[in-house]
Amino acid sequence: MFVFDAHLDLAMNAMEWNRDLRLPVRAIREREAHLTDKPDRGKNTVSCPAMRSGNIGLCMATQIARYVKESNPLPGWHSPEQAWAQTQGQLSWYRAMEAQGEMIQITSLQQLENHLTLWSTPSETKKPIGYILTLEGADSIVNFNYLEKAYEQGLRAIGPAHYGPGTYAQGTNATGGIGPKGKALLKEMERLNIILDATHLCDESFWEALDNFNGPIWASHNNCRTLVPHNRQFSDDQIKELIQREAVIGIALDAWMMVPGWKKGISLPEEMGATLSSALDHLDHICQLAGNALHVGIGTDLDGGFGKEQSPSDLDTIADLQNYIPLLEKRGYTITDIENFMHGNFLRFLRSTWKN
Ligand SMILES: [Zn+2]
Repeated sequence: MFVFDAHLDLAMNAMEWNRDLRLPVRAIREREAHLTDKPDRGKNTVSCPAMRSGNIGLCMATQIARYVKESNPLPGWHSPEQAWAQTQGQLSWYRAMEAQGEMIQITSLQQLENHLTLWSTPSETKKPIGYILTLEGADSIVNFNYLEKAYEQGLRAIGPAHYGPGTYAQGTNATGGIGPKGKALLKEMERLNIILDATHLCDESFWEALDNFNGPIWASHNNCRTLVPHNRQFSDDQIKELIQREAVIGIALDAWMMVPGWKKGISLPEEMGATLSSALDHLDHICQLAGNALHVGIGTDLDGGFGKEQSPSDLDTIADLQNYIPLLEKRGYTITDIENFMHGNFLRFLRSTWKN
């Protein structure tokens, strides 16, 4: 079944983890197995061949670069201009993958429909993986001329915040609202029809952003606070509001967000019982709140700074997303529900957002 993944840090993996994503997952693991600079070395789960074998033909692909003031202990660039340049390097990698026929950028309804037709037609030749650019944390937008430029480059969604305090909104583990800069950004996004990704907004920024934005809203990779308590997760009130705003929420596969009690760097998926089925508990919860299965999708975040050590124990590579299907059948979901989760809900959202 065709899969849409609403959140993958592909260029970050290429440029900061130094992974050649044209290679099979196993080859990438072997090449870096001796490295110890990051906890997920040799444990990656994503590559272009793995995506193809799992029929993941379309994704939201990030540009991501944090700007940190002197007072911010998180890793990041010391000026927004440096952060911008980092996102441009990432874009340059996506372009190089396009030139290789590995990927293809999608920016409009017509391109989306053409791409879906290509992937639904059986063929022996290698199909390019469709990607839509999304920005995780908007700190790299130096001013709105840069936003305009980013839109021209294909940027179609923005999560204003990531971890910690940001220029346009406050993110995970931070507090506070979006302020005048955040409001101005949302206005510009509305004008350009850029999707607001509510993921990572802290509670205050979440509610203020939703109050100040009339454009399309989704949450690309977010799970439920009721099941795993943490400010990174959505409360039931937030989920209900998103449902009312026609949002789709991508279920993330970062193990600490899937099962309660996870200790980062210590817990292991096997011993914590973190499996693909645990992710479906979050899907169930959202579907219960909605009264239907129209507001859930896939937003794995696989290789988003973690690898197999913090992913579902029954997932070796991203191709294993296909194993969601029997698990959903066992839970009583209809084939239509399952198709909607695997791709349909996010595609409906994109079609309605890009209809003009
Ligand atoms: Zn994230």
